Amino acid sequence: MNKTDNISALAVAGVQKLIPYVPGKPIEELERELGLSDIVKLASNENPLGANPTVAKAIHTILAELTRYPDGNAFRLKALLAEKLSVTPQHITLGNGSNELLELVARTFLTPELEVVFSQHAFAVYPIVTQAVGATARVVPAKNYGHDLSAMSAQINDKTRLVFIANPNNPTGTLLAPDELEAFIQGLPSSVLCVLDEAYYEYVAADQRADSIAWLDKYPNLIITRTFSKAYGLAGLRVGYSLSSPEIADLLNRVRQPFNNNMLALTAAEAALLDSDFLDRTVAANNAGMKQLTEAFRSMGLEWIPSAGNFVSVDLGKPAMPIYEALLRKGVIVRPVANYEMPNHLRVSIGTEAENQTFIDALKQVLNDV
Ligand SMILES: *Cc1c(COP(=O)(O)O)cnc(C)c1O
Repeated sequence: MNKTDNISALAVAGVQKLIPYVPGKPIEELERELGLSDIVKLASNENPLGANPTVAKAIHTILAELTRYPDGNAFRLKALLAEKLSVTPQHITLGNGSNELLELVARTFLTPELEVVFSQHAFAVYPIVTQAVGATARVVPAKNYGHDLSAMSAQINDKTRLVFIANPNNPTGTLLAPDELEAFIQGLPSSVLCVLDEAYYEYVAADQRADSIAWLDKYPNLIITRTFSKAYGLAGLRVGYSLSSPEIADLLNRVRQPFNNNMLALTAAEAALLDSDFLDRTVAANNAGMKQLTEAFRSMGLEWIPSAGNFVSVDLGKPAMPIYEALLRKGVIVRPVANYEMPNHLRVSIGTEAENQTFIDALKQVLNDV
C-alpha cells in the first residue's frame, strides 16, 4: 500500500497556507445549535425582499427541461445583458457567481512568479484565488477604510499582473470617485489587468456611479465583474458575469467549465433582468433601511463607515466577537469582520424594516449587558 506521511505537504505552497473563506452563519445552523426559530440573518448581504415571484414563475416553466444540459453559451441571457448594458455578447463571460470570474481571471493570468495588488480590508476572495494559483499578494494599507489608489500604484512593479478593486468595497462599503478610479486604471501598465468588482453596483446612487462600461473601449486591460446575487436577489442560484474586451472573454471562456451556470440559474437571471420593478423596490428598501440603521447607530453614539452598498460596518469601540456571539443567542446573525483586520466592527446587511428593528433592539440590549 502506498503510504504518504503528509499529504498536505503535497499541496501547492499557496494552498498549504490558504485560510478558507468563512461564510455568514446559515439560519438552519443557528436553529440546530440553539433550538431557536424566527432567526434574523443580516450576515451575507442578501436581498431581504424574498424570492422574486416573477423569477419563481420562470423557473417553474423550465422544470420539464431538466434532463437536458443547459445552454453552455447562455445565448439568451447574454443577449439580454448585452442589450441592457450596450455591449456585445462577446464582451460577456458568465460565472457561477461572480466569485467564479475572480477565480477564472486568476487561473487564466497568474503564475507563481507574478504578483497581485489589492487593498487591506478588501474582499476575502481576492487573497484566496491569488494564493490558490501560487501568486504573491501585495496588500496595500487602506486609507479611511477605503482604497488608497496612489499607494496601490506605488506597489506595481514588473511582476504585477493583476489588481483587484471592489467598488463599493466589501466589508467597508467605501466608494471611489469615478474620476479618481479612471485615472488609476489609465495609469496602469498595459501588462497589468484591473478587475473592477462591482457586485454592489445597482445600490450606488446614480450620481455617484462610475460609467465603467464606457471605459472598456479605452482600457483593454479592464475586467468588470457584476452579480445577480445581491440586488437581483439570486444568491442561491449563483450567477455572475464579467465584462471585458472580447479577447479577454475568449481566454476566460477557454478555462471556464462548459456548463458552469445551471439551467434554473440561467432562466432565473433572464427573468430577473427583465423585472426592473423588483430592482427599484430593492434599492428603495435598501436606502430606507440604511437610514434606519445609521440613525439608530447615531442615537447609540456608535460610529459607522459610510456605505454605498447593502450593508454597513459599525464600530463598537471594543472587540466585536463577544457582541456577535451575544446577538446570535438572541437569534440575530450579523458578520464579524476580524478576519478583515476590523476586530471592533460588525458588518450588518440591510434587512427589511422589521429585521433591522429586531437587530437594533438586540444590539441595544447586548451592549447594555456586555
Ligand atoms: C458578494 C460579493 C461578490 C459576489 O459574489 P457572487 O459569487 O456573485 O455571489 C463579489 N464581490 C464582492 C466584493 C462581494 O461582496
